[in-house]
Amino acid sequence: MPLISPSNLTELVERTLIAAGSEPAEAQVVADHLVRANLAGHDSHGVGMLTNYLPGIKNGLLNVNQESETWMDSGPMLGVDGHRGFGQRIARETLDKAIPKAHEHGVALVGLRRCHHIGRIGTYAEQCSQAGLISLHFVNVQDHRPLVAAFRGKEAVFGTNPICFGMPAQGKSPEILLDMATSQIALGKTRVAYLGGKTVPHGAVISAEGELSDQPSVMWEEPFGALTPLAEHKGYALALMCEILGGVMTGGGSIAPQNERLGGIVNNMMSILIDPARFTQTDYLVKEMEQLTEFVKGSAPAGNLPVILPGDPERSTHAQRSQGIEFDQGNWDSLVEVAQTVGVNWNA
Ligand code: NAD
Repeated sequence: MPLISPSNLTELVERTLIAAGSEPAEAQVVADHLVRANLAGHDSHGVGMLTNYLPGIKNGLLNVNQESETWMDSGPMLGVDGHRGFGQRIARETLDKAIPKAHEHGVALVGLRRCHHIGRIGTYAEQCSQAGLISLHFVNVQDHRPLVAAFRGKEAVFGTNPICFGMPAQGKSPEILLDMATSQIALGKTRVAYLGGKTVPHGAVISAEGELSDQPSVMWEEPFGALTPLAEHKGYALALMCEILGGVMTGGGSIAPQNERLGGIVNNMMSILIDPARFTQTDYLVKEMEQLTEFVKGSAPAGNLPVILPGDPERSTHAQRSQGIEFDQGNWDSLVEVAQTVGVNWNA
């Protein structure tokens, strides 16, 4: 199976994006984001996304080198429109503008709308954490056909609407990162399983006939079924809140069929940034976070596996993969094929 170093992979992705029309600075930010998603273990949001992005550029669903437009800048509030530009670049630039606002006001509220796919949301929580800020992110997905059924439904009515919370490291307490789709699994996980000839956890998908299944083909071969919501009514309700905060409140719009649906992936995101130093004493915060995380992580395991913290899996996968990222043949071949469409040979 192909094994490639993160730096070689980043260089291949950059060259491919430049060949597809991106300026080098944009290609570098997007490549870095995608490879870091692979390093974090989220292959569903890693370089495999090129198989979506390159056809998207060709079909006019994703605009390369698109500048964002600020539609509101008022005290702690910032509103940005991405005009279907590369989401990884526009979301990063938007948070770069919001971070000083949170330092100045103690909080910042960011409405980012109409970006092409912004990728792994944890990247933005990490960006805020590195600036010493707590962050919360609520995202909806538009333009794409709905993928996730409501609780008690079998028809897809939502995107995989991720939520993400980040808390910066405090003393010996590591950075806490909750970054998850509100479906049981992300769509990209069914793509990776489908191309790799694997199954998904039983019940993570429901067939068009309404049968719970472990077959990723349910999402990739017609008649399409749906992903099921996380934790029944709870994930369903969180997905609805992402539509309200991420979609409706940013002005990007919800997934309702009256809004544009051209077949691309458009993300809207509402982010709340909090400066913990403006709310608590740093000594108190460090002591509380150290005591809390030690207490939780030190609790007795129910089986063979230890209790870990949200963010631990990404950290340990990053450490394991820093020498090389492995691809199964199906996923690698699909990347080779799509890179060839812009004249870049990944097997050279
Ligand atoms: P997941 O199920 O792999 O992980 C979710 C979270 O659970 C992570 O924060 C992880 O640290 C934590 N976690 C995992 N095991 C744990 C354990 N044993 N104890 C404590 N915490 C644990 O993630 P997912 O739902 O499949 O999402 C994958 C990625 O897809 C995310 O990065 C998300 O942002 C991204 N996504 C993006 C979009 C979009 O439209 N841009 C849509 C959906 C998902």
